Amino acid sequence: MKTYDPNNVFARILRGEIPCRKVYEDEHTLAFHDINPQAPVHVLVIPKGAYVDVDDFSARASDGEIAALWRAVTAIAHDLGVAVPGYRLLANTGPESGQEVPHLHLHLFGGRPLGRMIAKE
Ligand code: AMP
Repeated sequence: MKTYDPNNVFARILRGEIPCRKVYEDEHTLAFHDINPQAPVHVLVIPKGAYVDVDDFSARASDGEIAALWRAVTAIAHDLGVAVPGYRLLANTGPESGQEVPHLHLHLFGGRPLGRMIAKE
């Protein structure tokens, strides 16, 4: 099991210790605008539970938590008007991914043509 750092920045947002620009919340899921947006729409969708990354979430989360995260993504995409032109989801997981915050988060990007899937070397 991966060790969860309870002082990571998203854990602190979930505890209300630091603010966020919330776009969505339900029993299991919170979503808020990224502080350093890379596209006109750049939202982070996170489970409220203490999960390090995708791998940890798949292994330990309940079916309800997993369903809630995915249903939140589509609800947010519709609410923010990017569902039809399209959007991109990205989840950094593990050392080679460049994950900076060790609490699972899905980046939801949209609002302009997004170009290549990943940067060329
Ligand atoms: P990652 O590299 O996948 O771990 O992405 C972490 C993301 O969290 C980056 O896009 C940061 O801009 C974003 N971020 C860091 N601190 C905050 C914060 N306090 N509020 C909102 N987004 C944040």
